[in-house]
Amino acid sequence: MPTASIQIEQVETFLVDVPTIRPHQLAMTTMKGQTLMIVRIRTSDGVVGIGEGTTIGGLSYGAESPESMKLTIDTYLAPILLQCDPGRVALTMAAIGKAVQGNHFAKCAVEIALLDAMGKRTGLALSELLGGRQHDRLPVAWTLASGETARDIEEAEGMLARRRHNIFKLKIGKGDPRANIAHVAAIKRALGERASVRVDINQAWSEATASAMLPLLRDAGVDLVEQPIALRNVRGLARLARESSVAIMADEALHGPESAFNIAQQAGADVFAIKIMQSSGLFAAGKVAAIAEAAGIGLYGGTMLEGGVATAASAHLFSTFAKLEWGTELFGPLLLTEEILEEPLDYSEFSLAVPTGPGLGIALDECQISLFRRDRAERSIHVVPRLMTGS
Ligand SMILES: [Mg+2]
Repeated sequence: MPTASIQIEQVETFLVDVPTIRPHQLAMTTMKGQTLMIVRIRTSDGVVGIGEGTTIGGLSYGAESPESMKLTIDTYLAPILLQCDPGRVALTMAAIGKAVQGNHFAKCAVEIALLDAMGKRTGLALSELLGGRQHDRLPVAWTLASGETARDIEEAEGMLARRRHNIFKLKIGKGDPRANIAHVAAIKRALGERASVRVDINQAWSEATASAMLPLLRDAGVDLVEQPIALRNVRGLARLARESSVAIMADEALHGPESAFNIAQQAGADVFAIKIMQSSGLFAAGKVAAIAEAAGIGLYGGTMLEGGVATAASAHLFSTFAKLEWGTELFGPLLLTEEILEEPLDYSEFSLAVPTGPGLGIALDECQISLFRRDRAERSIHVVPRLMTGS
């Protein structure tokens, strides 16, 4: 299928700023909007591949921002891409990996675009290119993040009634741990067995605090505790996993296959949150999942609160996992006020349908994109004076 005659003709990047439906509270920041870094790769056979990179709260979650991803791609990755055969995705990504250290998120966005193009060229869905789909729908958790107990219960009840989510996650790293656990316990009491309730600490607790709080979380009916302590303290995470009767999940501690192997070797977690950006791409995230499977660690499909493009990419990869015991949190597009896809992703029956068309199986809504592109103001400045001169 790949032919040496295909070339990459253009690499385009731009930022899209979309408001969130409500303030989204995390341990490190409160998000009122999300910035999607979109990359479009045009190849000489007329195919256009789309990729996306996001992070959580600018630079408050990790070392890359949407702006830095754009700069990295424009300055360093695009010149390499223009020299590569887009029919050979793994070789292209290896050339990028050799020339550019780190920058996992920027690399992931480019890899998504290359694989989308490959899928469109071959007529295959991304999930087939990644080893073969085993699930057509994936369970999706929702994050309750208003910070108010009554409002969170009302939101959860609404989701249950609409059969959109029956797994709820609460971000409780910020503020007093005991007060936060009381908040979680009240929510679990209200929802009972109709829902799974989980918490994410986002590294905010010390090991001693985590050790003291885990029994309270168990008593509150919490199923899963995500990244309770600092990402570098893998031994601490292992000690907590050993003593806890609630499952412990590694998230921030996972940065691709090497970190996954290190955590697995130390029995540092019961569950891995697989994230395509944090892993440095779909291929690397697949390796993280393979390490988890080999070590008997459960899988959960994580998100960087991605928009429709990277959410679809994640869904394709997660659909190839034999077992996805803990479901996913691929709700990113539902947190945004604006739809950026021509056809929205299908969220129903407590799950997300994995798209079926070639490549990602999605298309950007160009009208929405031009309305929310960060550079729209700049572009309109070029248009307005000409109109004025004309009149
Ligand atoms: Mg997390």
